[in-house]
Amino acid sequence: PPSRLQNQSRRISTSRRCRDVMPAWVIDKYGSNDVLRFTRNASFPSITYPNEVMVKVFAAGLNPLDVSMRGGYGAATLSMKRDPLSISRSGSEFPLILGRDVSGVIMECGLGVKYFQERDEISWKPKSLSHTEAAAMPYVAATAWSALVNTGGLSKDNCGNKRILILGGSGGVGTFAIQLLKAWGAHVTVTCSQNAEQFVRGLGADHVVDYTDGPVDVSLSGFDLILDNVGGDTERWALGLLKPWSGSKYVTLVTPFMQNTDRLGVADGMMQTAATVASKALKHLLRGVHYRWGFFAPSGPALDEIRDMVDKGQIRPVVEETFSFCQVPQAFQKLEKGHARGKTVVRVS
Ligand code: NDP
Repeated sequence: PPSRLQNQSRRISTSRRCRDVMPAWVIDKYGSNDVLRFTRNASFPSITYPNEVMVKVFAAGLNPLDVSMRGGYGAATLSMKRDPLSISRSGSEFPLILGRDVSGVIMECGLGVKYFQERDEISWKPKSLSHTEAAAMPYVAATAWSALVNTGGLSKDNCGNKRILILGGSGGVGTFAIQLLKAWGAHVTVTCSQNAEQFVRGLGADHVVDYTDGPVDVSLSGFDLILDNVGGDTERWALGLLKPWSGSKYVTLVTPFMQNTDRLGVADGMMQTAATVASKALKHLLRGVHYRWGFFAPSGPALDEIRDMVDKGQIRPVVEETFSFCQVPQAFQKLEKGHARGKTVVRVS
């Protein structure tokens, strides 16, 4: 009888003949919104490694990173990942399809894939959500989880007596982080602009500070953890709001990691990054608080826990606006204007 490998290669070659191409939005160079180009003839992806799956995308969430990457942000890091020996000529990544945040169904599994099967909704989508709602979650959920749990040391068992400050609570990461921390019993203070106050209170924020109304009041001090989704000058004043000498942590998501790699190359960029974070961490440690950088980190187990919380009604996706597939440039434009109140999602089919 034919082996699983023969079966799979037969299936792949049959399906490849049927679908050598697919519709997609691509870019042929980095730049502003007009580099986005629609094509019906983007090459159909194939499974290259045994641990890969192929996903039919029903909806895609947009993130500030997608806008930055349209302009070339992270190009050096990604080209290093794609082509570590720099064999290909520069620009070989084009035509490039942007985006990383999807909800869909598995079409094909590599031979080493055990956890998923064809037709599964990936990382097993919450049953209570549509694909459009589900696409609003993975990237911001995995980022908030990585920052709060892996870097910040929080969990559902130790949040009960913690006071947390979220700088920038009204965007994608903030709206998810508020709900996660409230579900875990923390006291949550949020900074946002005045017209987002009711919105973040509706997600559970206990205390809201309007950052447009002047400097954030330092009498707010005594936080166990600060999640910074804003960056810029926040580092100059925010660490002073932590409870010193108590293991309190400041975790910022706005780091120069990619800029360093883009500017200096991978090796020098990483060295510069390590030197910067180490010197800042040491400076703040001497003042009794921990300084950390947080990063998106993909995690199936984290998404599975989040799925359960969503299905129990503890967390809901916050979709601010949806666009159809033919409106991808408008969706990018919306994101670029800033002032997000949750997530922007593109419905693909
Ligand atoms: P969004 O664009 O969805 O949200 C940003 C929010 O911050 C908006 O609601 C905005 O509303 C608000 N805001 C802007 N300025 C301030 C301010 N000074 N104080 C308080 N709120 C403010 O971004 P995300 O939530 O998706 O991401 C947040 C940041 O984290 C981004 O810089 C992103 O690049 C970064 N990030 C980093 C990751 C990593 O791996 N390190 C991963 C994911 C995100 P308004 O302007 O109306 O106040």
